[in-house]
This record gives sequence, structure tokens and C-alpha cells, in this order.
Amino acid sequence: MGSPLYRRPRSGARWGAVFVGLCIAWCGVSAAAVGDTHTAGAPGRRIETLEREGAARPSAAAAALEDLTAELLPGSGDWVLAMAVRGHLLALAGNPALANRVADLLESPAGGADASPAARAAASLVRARVQSREGSTGRAERLLADAQQLLAGSPASVLSLHVAQALGQVNEDRGQTDEAVRLYLLALEQATQIGAPWRRAGVLRRLAWITAEMGQLARAVTLNHEALELAAAEGDHVLMSTIQNTEGFIQAKLGDKAAERRAAAAALDEARAGGAPRMEALMLANMADLHLRFGDFSLAQSTAEQGLRLAREFDDRDAETLALTNRGLALVSQRRLAEGKRDLAASLEIDERRGSLAGMVATLADAGRYLESVGDLEGALEAYLRWRPLADRALRVDQQKTVLEMQESFDHAQRQRELAVLQADGELQRERLRAQTLQARVWLIAAVAGALAIGILAALAQRVRRSNLELARLNQQLEVQSGHDALTGLANRRRFMSAMERFAENGQLRGSIVLIDIDHFKRINDRFGHAAGDAVLVEVARRLLQSVRAGDLVVRWGGEEFLVVARDLATESVEHMAQRMLDRIAGEPFAYEGLSIAVSASVGWATFPVEPSRLSVPWEQALDLVDTALYLAKAHGRNRGYGVRTLQAAHESELASIAASLEEAWRGGRVALTLLQGPPPHGLAA
Ligand code: GH3
Ligand code: MG
Ligand code: MG
Repeated sequence: MGSPLYRRPRSGARWGAVFVGLCIAWCGVSAAAVGDTHTAGAPGRRIETLEREGAARPSAAAAALEDLTAELLPGSGDWVLAMAVRGHLLALAGNPALANRVADLLESPAGGADASPAARAAASLVRARVQSREGSTGRAERLLADAQQLLAGSPASVLSLHVAQALGQVNEDRGQTDEAVRLYLLALEQATQIGAPWRRAGVLRRLAWITAEMGQLARAVTLNHEALELAAAEGDHVLMSTIQNTEGFIQAKLGDKAAERRAAAAALDEARAGGAPRMEALMLANMADLHLRFGDFSLAQSTAEQGLRLAREFDDRDAETLALTNRGLALVSQRRLAEGKRDLAASLEIDERRGSLAGMVATLADAGRYLESVGDLEGALEAYLRWRPLADRALRVDQQKTVLEMQESFDHAQRQRELAVLQADGELQRERLRAQTLQARVWLIAAVAGALAIGILAALAQRVRRSNLELARLNQQLEVQSGHDALTGLANRRRFMSAMERFAENGQLRGSIVLIDIDHFKRINDRFGHAAGDAVLVEVARRLLQSVRAGDLVVRWGGEEFLVVARDLATESVEHMAQRMLDRIAGEPFAYEGLSIAVSASVGWATFPVEPSRLSVPWEQALDLVDTALYLAKAHGRNRGYGVRTLQAAHESELASIAASLEEAWRGGRVALTLLQGPPPHGLAA
């Protein structure tokens, strides 16, 4: 499943499994439309309707779009839009060959004319969806980057929204959480500009999911409820089904079983109300899994049976294997071993036929656990012996795929860095496998119970524990190496270091640096507690991401300090960005557990090379200067920012002495500063 940098929580394996299927069904289509439907006339509205219908019945909607494109002028905006939606629905319906054919047509419209940038971007989007469905996220990412480049400079459109959202999804699949969040926020902004609440709801739902994965559960609940309100207002049942499914995922993480059950039931009801049988089948599989986990085995069995009937009727293999596995596990749990094993074998056979190694590994692991729990140790052993080599192979395939993709896509220097991370990740996977093997050995030994002394079992258990500790350590190390801050999901310092190459020329910084420090943050911790402080940090990160533009890097620099690096060289636009940051942070109180907390921040910034002498400096010196500007903002009362507009210095050494006494240099006219003020913060002062 995707790159080894990405992993879903173990306890949520089946939620994850179901959701991958759902994602194919829904996320694919939500990234389908291109072109400006908000400016479009009747064909545009028809295309939008078909795009929404395609969430439930992709093949039928794709066929309707084929008829529609025949009536449109090839190369026109509506034609591009209809073709792109059709391509996506085909990818979604499991017809990659036809989807790629649609992309070919987009790139070379009849009559020999050159394809427009929008048509080429749409073609890349379609191809990216095909690649992404086939698990080649690296290729998908490159295609989407091409699409983004083709659209650079054009105003927000449905097309650019979907490119951003699809890129966000690819980044999420690759475990690049901060980048994924940034792209989803960009997509959200575009959905708002375009004025399509259902699209906004779709992006909010994705944000809720990823926020929950990052452990920000309260935030995830808020985001998901906002999504639900929007979808409910539009009466969009299919969308509501996906949102309720996300709710189930969040509630499972919160440990609220009743709420999880309610959400799963609602997801199923909405899929039915929306007339979406494939989604209904997935939601039934999900529900069966929930009953299994809660120990309601006969309910699990009958639910899985309903799902199985639908999956077979609509030829949906993902749902069919899930339903078979779930029914098998339910039967095993009721000690109907022969029937249960028959279902499990049937599920494995389908996965084997279609080459789904990951599906087989998951089924065998579950089979082993369930058989062992009802005392069928021989059956459990058999499952384990089959699981072991497959799990090894899955791991190797996954790693090989990732390494190959990296080799294709990165230049030498970048590849070296990524490979270092991969290596750590490989170590992590090996360690995980070792832990699993050891765990498996524990139950195998239990299988021949009595033959071995209790002391050996204890020693093995100890090794499992140690192995798990090692796993935790490696996870932590991986987090550092992969460049993400665990609390906010922003880039960390390591990531900043490697990114500096992007912003530097011969070691000299070219771009703007903005340093942000929360005012009196210690008081927030002291008055409202450390958890409130954490929540404020997460929300500041979110507001900062809202204030920057695509391509800017937002870093958690230290405890309550953030750094933004922007490639944009125009002084005015950096000033606007700094003002947006001050406004967004102090302009609205921070909600935490029913409280409204007043927060403000101070900001310092500068653009390099510095005018008028265009002095270039390494980033460390640049940061020194900006830090002094920030200090000035603190000293002059906080909730404000100072930016260096011009500076009379021909050498690095002069810059250093100016940075050491910025205020004096300012009064002496050697430095021109811009002062920006934040709005008065309201809410509970810390
Ligand atoms: P000033 O306005 O001058 O910046 O004052 P301040 O209190 O914001 O700055 P100071 O640097 O004195 O305090 C920063 C505090 O941030 C101290 C530390 O306990 C807290 N902190 C650092 N990291 C975290 C974190 O991850 N979570 C929480 N809740 N607090 C943190
Ligand atoms: Mg500080
Ligand atoms: Mg501070």
C-alpha cells in the first residue's frame, strides 16, 4: 500500500482498508471536474451534475458524459471539462485504458490544433488519477506538478481546485502530512472562491480525516461537523455518507463506541438514501467490521452477507473480498470453522487472482488471530505459515516500488536525502516484521503448549516488548528524519535545512524570511494548561498556512516560534503576508474546550538580497537580522511586526553590526523599517 513513509494506525487497519476503497470511490470523483463551472452555462451545469452523480454510479455517468462531449466543440472549455470528468470516472470505474485514451484526446484535439494549457493540465490530472489508483503515487505526483505548472498564474478554477486536492491526497498517501494539509487548505480556499459548498464540504472532510490521523481529534470533529452541515444543507446523501464514515473513523480514535456505531449506521443510511450501491457495500463491510470488533458475531455475519450480495451484484471486488473476510471471521468466532474457513479461502483466492498481495496479507493476519482466539491452533499455524512469506514479499515489493520511483524522479542530491529516510524506514519495517514474527512465535509456542517451559515464553515476551520499544524509538527517529513536526504537522528544522537549497543561490539566500513568535505564550500555558497551549500552537500553524501562498515553506522553528520562507521577492507582497498573519492570529479568538482565548503574535521579516545595495548573505545571517526585527516588535509592545525595507550595507560585516543595534541604525537613517500593527485581540487574556 503506497510508500513506506505512510502508514495507517494498526488498530484502524480495517477502517483504513475500507476507506481506501471508499477513497477510490469518492476522492477520485471529487477530483474529477475541471474548467470553470461557476462561469459555465447549461453544459457546465450538466457536467457538474454528472460529476456528482458519478460518485454513486461512475460507469453510467461516464457514458452520459461521452454522449455530451459529442455535442460540444472539441477544445472548448466545456469540452475539456466534460472530457476530464469522464476520464476520471473511467479511472474510478476501473477502466484505466479508456481513461488514458481520454487523456490522449485531451492532449491532441481533432483538427491538429495545439491543446490549450488547461486541456494539457486536465490530461495530466486524468493520468495522475490512473497512476494513483494503481499505487504509483510518485508518478501521480509528478503529473499533478505538471498540471499545477500549466495552470500557474490563472485565477482559481475548478481545475486548479482539483489539482490542489489531488496533490494533497498524493502527499497524504506518501505520508507528507504538512504538505497535504497545506494543499487541502489551498483547495478549501479555492472551493470558497468558486462558491460551491459541496466541494468545500468534500475538502473539509479530507482535512478532518488527516487531522484525526495527526491526533488532533477535537479539531477533526469540528472540521467534519462543518462538512456535514454543508452537505446536509445541500441534501447530498452520497457526500454525507463519506462524511459519516470519516466521523466513524474519528470516533473510533476517540474511543467513543456509541458514537462510532451511530456514525457507521448513518454512513450506511446515507449511502442507501443516495442510491449508491458500491458505497453501500463498503459501508456494510465497515459495519460488519464494527460488529466483529464489538463481539456481535451473528450481526457481523448477517451484515457481511448483505454487503456480499451487493458487491457481487455490482461487480465490486474490493467490497466482495472485504465482505467475504468479515463473514468468514464472524463464522469462525461462532465456531463454525469449516464454513468460516471456506469464506476466508474464497476471499484469498480472489485477491490472489487479481494480484492483491496487501489484501491477502491482511486477510491471513486476521484469520490467524481469529482462529487462534477460538482455539484452532492448527488453523492458526497454517494461516501464519502462509502469511509469513507473503508479508515478506509485500514488504520487498513495496520497498522496490518506492526506490524505483525515487530513482526516476529525483535529482542526485535530493535522492540521497530521501534514501536516507527510506533506509531508516526500511529499518523500521524490518523491526516491525521482527516484532510481528516474535509475536507470532509466542502464539505458535502456545499452540504446542506444555512442550516448552514457561520461562522461555517469558523470555520471548520480553523480546517482544523490547522490540516494540525499539519500534517506538525508530518511529520517533523517522519523524525527525522525514522532516515533520509531530504536533503541528509543519516542516521541522531538518526539512528547513534541506529546503534552504531551493531558496539559495551559491549559498546566498534569495527570498523572504518571516519569523513569528507568539506573545506571552508562557502565560497561556500557565493560565489554561499545557494542552490548551498545544491547541493554540496547532491553530496558529493552521492560520499561518492560510496566510501563505503555494510554494512558501512554513516551519515550526522552536517551541512557539514559526518561520516562513517565501520565494517571492516583491517587498509589498511580503508585507501583505505579514499583515495577514497578524490579522489572522489576533483577529479571531482561539476556541479551546468552550473557552475563547485571546492570542497575538509578533513578527519580523526581510527580503534578500536587501535593497538598495542588493547585498546577499547566507541564511544564518539573514535570520539574525530578521530576529532583531522581531525583537524590536516585542520591545515596542508586541502584536506588531517590523520589516526591513532598505538597508545601507555593502558588506556582510556591516550588516552584522546593523543587526546588532537595529533600532539605532533605524534612527540614524541607515535602515528603513515598515511597521505593521495587529488588530486588538479579543477573548480571554492570558
Ligand atoms: P514573549 O511574548 O516574549 O515571546 O513571551 P513568551 O512567554 O511567549 O516566550 P518564552 O520564550 O518566555 O516562553 C515560551 C514558552 O513556550 C515556554 C515553553 O514552556 C512553552 N513551550 C514550548 N514548546 C511548547 C509546546 O510544544 N507546547 C506548549 N504547550 N508549550 C510550549
Ligand atoms: Mg519565543
Ligand atoms: Mg513568545
